[in-house]
Amino acid sequence: MEQDDRILDVAVIGGGPAGLMAAETIAKAGKSVAVFEKMPTFGRKFLMAGRGGLNLTHSEDFERFAGRYGARSQALRPMLEAFSPKDLVAWAEGLGQPTFVGASGRVFPKAMKASPLLRAWLARLEGLGVQLRTRAEWTGWSADGGLLINGEVVRARAVVLALGGASWAKLGSDAAWVPTLAPLAHIAPFRAANCGFDVAWSAVFRERFAGEPLKNVALRHGEASARGDAMVAGYGLEGGAVYALAAALRDTIEAEGRAAPTLDLRPDIPAETLERRLQASRGGQSLANFLRKAVKLSPVEVNLLREAHGLDLPTEPAALAAAIKAAPIVLTAVQPLDRAISTAGGARFESLDGLALKERPNVILAGEMLDWEAPTGGYLLQACFATGVAAGQAALARL
Ligand SMILES: Cc1cc2nc3c(=O)[nH]c(=O)nc-3n(C[C@H](O)[C@H](O)[C@H](O)COP(=O)(O)OP(=O)(O)OC[C@H]3O[C@@H](n4cnc5c(N)ncnc54)[C@H](O)[C@@H]3O)c2cc1C
Repeated sequence: MEQDDRILDVAVIGGGPAGLMAAETIAKAGKSVAVFEKMPTFGRKFLMAGRGGLNLTHSEDFERFAGRYGARSQALRPMLEAFSPKDLVAWAEGLGQPTFVGASGRVFPKAMKASPLLRAWLARLEGLGVQLRTRAEWTGWSADGGLLINGEVVRARAVVLALGGASWAKLGSDAAWVPTLAPLAHIAPFRAANCGFDVAWSAVFRERFAGEPLKNVALRHGEASARGDAMVAGYGLEGGAVYALAAALRDTIEAEGRAAPTLDLRPDIPAETLERRLQASRGGQSLANFLRKAVKLSPVEVNLLREAHGLDLPTEPAALAAAIKAAPIVLTAVQPLDRAISTAGGARFESLDGLALKERPNVILAGEMLDWEAPTGGYLLQACFATGVAAGQAALARL
């Protein structure tokens, strides 16, 4: 049968990493595909992700890697196997962006930024014949099943929706799609995933130390513990070690109104060693000077101990060592959803058959709009790319 050229094989809605990856997969199979992106340019959140160093994926053992997605590991695993961290590295290198493994096993492009990668990628997509449309907003379906884009009807045999999560709305992912998809899929409410938390710092501490890093600490919450850096923020606490425990901290705050993790400021030094060093004579030194010399605590660390203990900060060596190993921090609230690096919630896998809507099998979902979450460390982009590839393949299977 003749095919109508005005009908696209696949329309991809959303030009972030997941949507662009779906489009690449489809175009490579020789099918016609257009990407519709409502913002004036593609990949705005991807570019933002590259600001502090684009962490593409992680080099750890695959079993550990797949486990980072918690309850959603099982659903994501086949897609992560089919487009693995190694595949992602090879893909980036194919776009002229060699990568390196950082100290913590995280994988970055040597350029550190997303912009050269995105530029090369868009050029390759154009070369493959992908129609790249910006300022093109999808608002739902026409009565006869066409896609409504800027009020016009666009027809496609299959559709990939890659509309993003619900943070940083100004970059495009504003979750405005939820009412349109809610009749077709169960959408779990969005919650901040990799996010900061409020702490009631004293005004003096906040003014003096907001923006100061707490290097190489261990944050502990119940049985869970995360190593890395944290950052004092005006509102409270943020940074890698905090994000790693953010899901559990968020859940505790939602259930109990607060969470009280502890910070180990010297995780590599046993308490007994600290105690021994603190037994040295203090002489006429201030406590801050003594702690700086004896155990190399920085001003922000000394003052954090004062924030945690107030006038009760012990001076006796064993108790002071214990305080350095477990400074209590009271987190009173989760930072607003829009400030989160990523969001939990979105279309539940139970409403899907693979990645296709059970209610409309030619509509396939990808990326952060699906209901999974993971810590920072490259797990977010890896899952967006892997679900993008899988969504592209699912769309091809519908043709
Ligand atoms: C500050 C920051 C730093 C980050 N750093 C990292 C990192 O280092 N490593 C990592 O793995 N992850 C990082 N992330 C997370 C990562 O950027 C996201 O998880 C990823 O971009 C999600 O990809 P996506 O394609 O699913 O959605 P998005 O990138 O959000 O793209 C969705 C696109 O869909 C478009 N869209 C939405 N609705 C419509 C519509 N109705 N019509 C047309 N277009 C529409 C949006 O405009 C948007 O461009 C970071 C995020 C932030 C905010």
